Amino acid sequence: MVDLERRYDVLVVGGGNAALCAAISARRSGASVLVLEAAPKFYRGGNTRHTRNMRCAHDTAVGTLTGPYTEEEYWDDLQRVTAGRTDEALARMMIRESKDMLHWIGMQGVRFQPSLGGTLSLGRTNSFFLGGGRAMLNALYRTAESLGVDIRYTAQVVDLDVQDGMFLSATLMRDGEHVSVRAGTLVAAAGGFEANIEWLKQGWGNAAENFLIRGTPYNKGSMLRLLLDRGVQSTGDVTQCHAVAIDARAPKYDGGIITRLDCVVFGIVVNNKAERFYDEGEDVWPKRYAIWGRLVAAQPDQIGYIVFDAKSLTMFMPSLFPPIEASTITELGRKLGLDSEALDRTVTHFNAAVRPGSFDHTILDDCRTEGLVPPKTHWARRIDTAPFYAYPVRPGITFTYLGTRVNGDARMIMSDGKPSANMFAAGEIMAGNVLGQGYAAGIGMTIGSVFGKIAGREAASHARN
Ligand SMILES: Cc1cc2nc3c(=O)[nH]c(=O)nc-3n(C[C@H](O)[C@H](O)[C@H](O)COP(=O)(O)OP(=O)(O)OC[C@H]3O[C@@H](n4cnc5c(N)ncnc54)[C@H](O)[C@@H]3O)c2cc1C
Repeated sequence: MVDLERRYDVLVVGGGNAALCAAISARRSGASVLVLEAAPKFYRGGNTRHTRNMRCAHDTAVGTLTGPYTEEEYWDDLQRVTAGRTDEALARMMIRESKDMLHWIGMQGVRFQPSLGGTLSLGRTNSFFLGGGRAMLNALYRTAESLGVDIRYTAQVVDLDVQDGMFLSATLMRDGEHVSVRAGTLVAAAGGFEANIEWLKQGWGNAAENFLIRGTPYNKGSMLRLLLDRGVQSTGDVTQCHAVAIDARAPKYDGGIITRLDCVVFGIVVNNKAERFYDEGEDVWPKRYAIWGRLVAAQPDQIGYIVFDAKSLTMFMPSLFPPIEASTITELGRKLGLDSEALDRTVTHFNAAVRPGSFDHTILDDCRTEGLVPPKTHWARRIDTAPFYAYPVRPGITFTYLGTRVNGDARMIMSDGKPSANMFAAGEIMAGNVLGQGYAAGIGMTIGSVFGKIAGREAASHARN
């Protein structure tokens, strides 16, 4: 039984990777630790349940990774995807610390496997969890429990007592009643606000009603809201997030990885006017997949359709839902509820603009269009072989970037610029410090692991001094 009357050294709010890394790290530093997870046990672990890999720097190949992936290359990648919108000192520190992370997290029971082949090609940069994110989390929970970390599920924090930048207590809901929990320090690891449509609407307007949330419905940003309202400085911009194109038939929440569609590069993408709106062949897929959520969000009614033909059907990872199939483009248009003549015209124009080339989807090949706006600059092949297929897509929000500002000790910074006396943050809730915009696969887990480990260690050290 968890004793909520007790005053713990460290209170960790959240139940995903960042929270568990913080809890384990604090406990290993000698602190007593309580974890409060809003979700019931079966759904514990937030968005971390859906993950597959983590990006860590390394100087030589290891068993499950080819190499090297140096600190400098990691930094270059991060700078490119964020267009420089990152806190350089924090980002460089995170990258440096990531070098020890595979070892550290392995010590907590997490196992890795070699990368699978396919459209993501991450075998050099990203380590894949054996059994996926849920197995990874189970290992962390097992380790935390065996070390004596107390964990309480269905324990959403609904209020915080913070005075002059110092955390005093948190209030949680238990059986419909408010219960106050005291601790020497706080680690906030409660995710972003991606499951809070009203908050998303502040940045996106009514378009946010049509967004699908790829992960947990429990990340409503309630901790983030409380912290900002109690004087913690924010970082990042309300519209910045990781968003990909996912199957429009996916559930509103928690559809996870299997609803993502990786086939944009094999066809064309049209909006509900049956018009193309962006170069589907701009760059290799790992560098470009994360722009399609925003692109679809900017289209009327936030919907798009990936259209391709029989030549491409088996060239990409299938998603949960089968594509919509038809023997002609006009029939496909009808099935999609589009103006089928307009779709036929769009495909005919596209086909006429395709220049001959040698198709190779593993490189930036020479198959392109000429005289078409927007162009398709690689992998352009005529859509001419029945049956024809389409996937409807909507913006799938993965996680938001607006968060709490932190320093290199993962300590939250208050609005007057001073570090909080005893409040720390890790994971999505502070991701905006590193990710001002853009994304490179696997960084979400690096942010959670590195800052979680630091936050736990620093919180324990503060509480015990
Ligand atoms: C489908 C999908 C696939 C992904 N794949 C990858 C990947 O392969 N690699 C990668 O690096 N990143 C990936 N990400 C992103 C990754 O999931 C996150 O960056 C990472 O898991 C964040 O960890 P976290 O601990 O900060 O948040 P989470 O794991 O989301 O945990 C937040 C926790 O806080 C709890 N919580 C929220 N509010 C409260 C409250 N008020 N009180 C108590 N508890 C609260 C939630 O219940 C949840 O347990 C993916 C995300 C999704 C949705």
